[in-house]
Order: sequence, then structure tokens, then C-alpha cells
Amino acid sequence: MTDLEWDTLVLGAGVLGCATAYHVMRSDPDRRVLLLDRNPRPAQGNTRRSVALFRDLFTSSTNQALASSTIALFDHVEGELGHNLGLKRFGYYWMMDPGKLDDLRPVLEDLERHGSDLEIHDRSDVRALLGEHIELDPVPPLDRGPLGSVAGAVMARNAGTLSPSRLAGWFEMEFRALGGRVEYGFTVDRLVPESVRGNGFRVWEDGRVAAVEGASGRLRAREFVVAAGAMTPSLLDPLGVDSHVKPRTRQAFGLVGEGATALHERNGFPGGHLPVMVLPSAGVYLKPVGSQRMLLAGCADDLGRPFGLDEDPQPEAEFLRDQIRPVVEGYLPGMKGAEVKVSWAGQYHSNTIDGNPYVFKESNLTVVAGASGSGIMKSDAIGRVAAAVHLDQRSTELFDGHRMNVADLGIKGRKVAPEALII
Ligand SMILES: Cc1cc2nc3c(=O)[nH]c(=O)nc-3n(C[C@H](O)[C@H](O)[C@H](O)COP(=O)(O)OP(=O)(O)OC[C@H]3O[C@@H](n4cnc5c(N)ncnc54)[C@H](O)[C@@H]3O)c2cc1C
Repeated sequence: MTDLEWDTLVLGAGVLGCATAYHVMRSDPDRRVLLLDRNPRPAQGNTRRSVALFRDLFTSSTNQALASSTIALFDHVEGELGHNLGLKRFGYYWMMDPGKLDDLRPVLEDLERHGSDLEIHDRSDVRALLGEHIELDPVPPLDRGPLGSVAGAVMARNAGTLSPSRLAGWFEMEFRALGGRVEYGFTVDRLVPESVRGNGFRVWEDGRVAAVEGASGRLRAREFVVAAGAMTPSLLDPLGVDSHVKPRTRQAFGLVGEGATALHERNGFPGGHLPVMVLPSAGVYLKPVGSQRMLLAGCADDLGRPFGLDEDPQPEAEFLRDQIRPVVEGYLPGMKGAEVKVSWAGQYHSNTIDGNPYVFKESNLTVVAGASGSGIMKSDAIGRVAAAVHLDQRSTELFDGHRMNVADLGIKGRKVAPEALII
């Protein structure tokens, strides 16, 4: 063994690190690749804390391509390879107030014309679908600002849920089958820079990262991929590499009771299943968990929600009470008094500029970040882009055959449209 043992060291075995490691091995089977994580197995970071939804409904064509090709991969893995990902399709029902619907109508109509499996509904369609369960003009709690009226909705059918840990496990299994190696239980404290000559680092020399270092020792590699999720800025800031993302806590609350049961039992939804409902205010969404007659509620709270790494974020009862419940109960009055069956919190690594992921290379470091609330649903495509960036390729083919110019997701040659449908 040489001192530079690994050709590539992938730091982070969340869904994005696993997907990237797999695609690096696929593209270059002779490469010696190590996938490393501090946890004892893959997908134990924020991948495990996700709400696990997928959709191909995005306003940025880059996000659409990333998500729709990844969803096609899900279908392939489960349908053709027979690997159970726990895939369920039940659609997204994204309700909007008049301003948002007017703004997005041209993009949505364009998507519809170009074959996206979606339907634009007006107010009366929303009423027909949700009946008396929905309040189209909700009254806000006393002394509080208005909750927007429901002007219409988009029903996106290529959407649903799957098991993120099974998905990450599949990428990791395929990576190992190709000869990739894993090292679990290794916490990286820092990335160690040195000059390309290999002895210390002087400002006038070309620098690179030479190793990762932690209490378990040092691991050297020629090249690195950092896919450390919300930890990415803390690992890169000390190096002077800007990840362009910030960690932010997001929460999920499973609500049960008569209102949730009644919604689950209502007939007439396309496919016969209650879809994910996104309410017009603050991106409050409700994911159906049919087996438990539960609705998992979350919210895209930005202003007032501080950035910052929290390694063990906890759900806040007062956030549910003061922020989420008034919105849910305003639009869905039957949800009043719903009990909390389960709750948890995790962290996004948020791209605050345009809502598309970042994949870029600095020196011998490939950074995969900014997946915000959609890293799972775009994982295969992000992994392909990251592998191509890592291997200095200009473009990559996504699972569905779409070709993507990888610089589009980078920093310098970035070419993406801002995303309007973020949760
Ligand atoms: C509440 C919530 C709901 C969400 N809902 C959805 C959803 O519905 N759909 C969707 O697509 N996405 C959703 N997301 C986002 C999704 O979870 C992320 O985009 C995705 O999991 C990111 O994967 P990752 O591999 O980048 O990060 P992670 O899964 O966090 O992986 C990073 C890995 O790096 C390891 N690591 C970090 N630092 C170190 C270190 N110093 N040493 C060693 N190992 C280290 C960690 O242990 C971890 O395993 C949600 C997120 C949250 C928090």
C-alpha cells in the first residue's frame, strides 16, 4: 500500500454520499474508493430524519430534470430490479393563493404542455376534491395576519414517498458490489491541507487536501468528495472553502384524530389515495401516512428560524402550537384537536440563493451540498453530477437519458433558474 492509499475518499454516507460513491465507481471501476461516515451504517444523518417525499413538480428545469430522472431510477430499482424501496405514489396537491397561482400559472401551463403529469385546478375543483374538509377563505386567529385564500391548486401525480434508508442502502450495496470500500464509525475532525509537494503548505504553492483526520487516525487520499450534509460548512469553513450553504432546522409532527382519519377515508382522489397537501400559507404541508391514518405536518419557516448547526435538533411543541396548527386548522378545520403521535427534527443544508443543489470542485475537493428539502428525490441525479465533476467530465447522462452540463450546478458557471416551489 502506498502512503496515498485511496484514489477517492467520500466523506458522508447519507443518500448523497452513497449515490456519489456508487456513480464514481460505476464510471471508473478501477478506482480505489472509500466511503466514510461517523455512524455505524449509511443514512443515519439527516437522510433518516427526512419526511421522504418525492415529486417532479419544480419550476427550475434543472430541478425537474434532477427529480424526474431520479424518480425513474426509483421505479427501475423497485419495478425491474425487485429491490423494495417502499415506493408509494399518491401525488402532491399544492394549493396556492391568488398571487402565487397567477405568478406560477405560465410555468405550470408550460410544464403541462411539455408532458408533466399534472393538472391545474381552480377553486371549484379544490372544493370538489376536498369537499367540506377545506376552508377556502380561512379566518386567521384573532389579532394575526391573514391566511391566503385558496385560489386553486396543482395536482402533480408523479409524486409520493419511499424509504430513504433503503434507497441509500441500495446505492451503498451497489457501490460495494463494484469493489468500493466503506469505513464506518470514523468521525472526521478536520480536512488536512498540504502543498502538492507533500510537505506542509505555503501560500505561494498549489494546495490540496491530503487527508481526513479524527480520533481514529488519518486517512489519506488523492481526491475527496465532501457530502457531509449539514456538517459541510463546519468542515469546509476552517479550510477557507465556501460551501455556499447553511444548516437550518426543520421539523415534522405526525397528527392523528378524527379529522385526519376523515381525510384519509374520503373518496375521489386520483389513484384512490389522499395526496400530500401543501397549504397556501408558509409552505405548510401534510403527508398522508395511510397505515396510521396520520398526517405528517411540516413547514418551510425561514424568517425567524436561525441558521446554525445543531447536531441533535429537537421538535418544538410551541412551534407546532403557534405556527403550524393555526395554518392547518385554518384550512382544514376538522384537524382541530388532532393529537401528536410522533415528532422529530433534522437539518437542511440550505441553498438560500436559488433553491437548486450545488456541486463544485475546488482543488482536489468535490463538494455536494445545498440539496435543501429535496436531496432524496434528486439523489441519483445529484450523485451522477457529482461523480462527473469529481472525474473532471463536462456533462453526465441522467438515468432517463437526459444530458446535463455539470457546470450548471457549479459556482462559477452556474446556470439554473431560481426555484419557486420550495418547502
Ligand atoms: C425534516 C426534514 C424533512 C425532509 N423531507 C424531505 C423530503 O420529503 N424529500 C427529500 O427529498 N428530502 C427531504 N429532506 C432533505 C433530505 O433529508 C436531505 O436533502 C438529504 O438527506 C441530504 O442527504 P445528505 O447525504 O447530503 O446528508 P446526510 O444524510 O445528513 O448525510 C451526511 C452524512 O455525513 C456524515 N458526517 C457528517 N459530518 C461528518 C464527520 N465530521 N465525520 C464523519 N461523518 C460525517 C453524517 O453522519 C451523515 O451520515 C428533509 C430533511 C429534513 C430535515
